[in-house]
Amino acid sequence: MDLNTLLINKEFSLNDNITCSGLNEEHEKYFGAVSAPIIQTSLFVQKDYQSYCDDMIHEAERFIYSRGLNPTVDMVERKIASLEMGESCRCFASGMGAISAALMANMNSHDHILLVNNIYGPAIELIKQMAVKYQIQYDTLFDGSIENIKRHIKPNTKVIYTESPGTMTMKIVDLAEIAQLAKSHNITTIIDNTWPTPVFQKPLTLGFDIVIHSCTKYLGGHSDLIAGAVVTSAERMNPIRDFSHQLLGAVLSPFAAWLLLRGIRTLPMRMRLHQENTIKILDYLNTRTDVKNILHPYFANPQEAQIIRKQMLGFSGLFSFEIENANFAKIKKFIDCCKVFKIGCSWGSYESLIISPNRGYNEDTLKQSNIGTGLIRLSVGQEDPDLLISDLDAAFKAIKSS
Ligand SMILES: *Cc1c(COP(=O)(O)O)cnc(C)c1O
Repeated sequence: MDLNTLLINKEFSLNDNITCSGLNEEHEKYFGAVSAPIIQTSLFVQKDYQSYCDDMIHEAERFIYSRGLNPTVDMVERKIASLEMGESCRCFASGMGAISAALMANMNSHDHILLVNNIYGPAIELIKQMAVKYQIQYDTLFDGSIENIKRHIKPNTKVIYTESPGTMTMKIVDLAEIAQLAKSHNITTIIDNTWPTPVFQKPLTLGFDIVIHSCTKYLGGHSDLIAGAVVTSAERMNPIRDFSHQLLGAVLSPFAAWLLLRGIRTLPMRMRLHQENTIKILDYLNTRTDVKNILHPYFANPQEAQIIRKQMLGFSGLFSFEIENANFAKIKKFIDCCKVFKIGCSWGSYESLIISPNRGYNEDTLKQSNIGTGLIRLSVGQEDPDLLISDLDAAFKAIKSS
C-alpha cells in the first residue's frame, strides 16, 4: 500500500520525540548528568524511623526497595507510558514476564479468554498451561473479524488478547471496533504491540485497555537486553502491580532499564530507517518470480489497508515470504549463502536476521499446519539496503544454479 496515505500524526510524533530525547528529564537531580544514572541499589535508607513509617503507607510511589520502585526503572517506565499515551507503565524482566503479569492479574479460574489473530507462540502455550493448572478457558480465533469475535463471546469471557499485525501471518484486526465491542461486554482488551512499536501504533488511543511490549525487540533495539512492559490506566495497573509485579516479582533490573533508556533515545529515528529499508527489500522481493506469499502489511488487501489507515502510522521490519518449490536443502543453502543477514531467532535490532520454520525434521508437521516448506522470515535491520538486497540476490542465484 502507499505509505503516503498513512496519517502522519504531528501530535504523536512530537510527543514521541520529546519523550525519547528527554526534554523533560531532571538533570539537576544528577549533577547535571545528561545520561541518566544507573541507580544500582536494592534498597533505599531513610533519615529517621518516622520517614520510613510514612514511606510504607505510600509504598507504590516511594523508593523503598527496588523490587517495588527504582529511579532508573521508574524513568524508563515513565517514558514507555508517555510513548503509549498511557497513565502507568510497569516493566518486567522479559516480554513473557509482562504477558504473564497482565494475564495472571486479569484472569481467575473458569474465566474465558479469546485469543484473536495469530498471537505469539509462547503466549498461547502459557494460556494452554493456565487452562490445565487453573481451569482457564480459551478460544483461538484466527479470523479476527468483529462478527467472528462476537460469535465467540461467552458470559464468562474476561479478556480479549490480540496482536495486530499478528507477528506470524501479519493479518490486521480493527482495534477500535474490538475495543468498542469488548467495552459493551465488560471485557478487558490486551494487545501485544511489539511489532508496530508505539511509534507506529498507539492502541490505548484506540480504546484498548492494556498494551504489552517485549522491549527485547525494537524498544531496546540493540540485542543487548531482555525486558517487557505493561502500559495501562492507573486503576488497571493496581492489580497488576500488587499481584504480578510485587508478588510474582519478575521485575526489571536497574542496569537493563538503563540499557533500555539508551535504546529508546533513538527509537523514532530507528523505526523510520527500519521502515525505509524494509520497503526497499519488499519492493525487490515483489519483482521476483521465484518468491510468493510475501506476508507484510505493505501488501495488505484493500479491506485491511482501510483498517491500517485508521490505526497505524507506519511499518516495521519483521516479515516472511516463501521461496517457490523449496525443500529443506534449498532453504538451508539460501540461508547459509546470506552473509549480511545473520542466522538467529529474535528480531527488532540493528542487525538483519534470517530464519525459517523449516528445520528439516519438521517438514511433515509444517505441511499439516499449512505452513509453506519454503518459508523464510527476515528481520530487516539498519545496514545499507543495497547491501541487504545484494545479499539476498546472491542467495537466490546460488539456489537456482544448484
Ligand atoms: C519476543 C516476543 C515476546 C516475548 O518477549 P521476551 O522478551 O522474549 O520474553 C512477546 N511477544 C512478541 C510478539 C515477541 O516477538
